[in-house]
Amino acid sequence: MNLFCRIFGHTWVPEIETPQVRWNTTKDMVVLEPTVDGQGIRHLEVCRRCGEQRVLPPRAHDADPIGGDVAQAG
Ligand SMILES: [Zn+2]
Repeated sequence: MNLFCRIFGHTWVPEIETPQVRWNTTKDMVVLEPTVDGQGIRHLEVCRRCGEQRVLPPRAHDADPIGGDVAQAG
């Protein structure tokens, strides 16, 4: 932990981690197919000084309160 984080506490900044999409062609080199790395979208808080991360619970919409109930889609 950074010295300043120990004195003042962490400076949390919200970040979103989205899965990477790679595009590759099929064998006949005509059609592009997506390959998705990782799972779904992750909401994080990252400390701007020391880089420490904490994962926030999933939300149905970005406007929903943090830690609120996740609405069931469909
Ligand atoms: Zn920190």
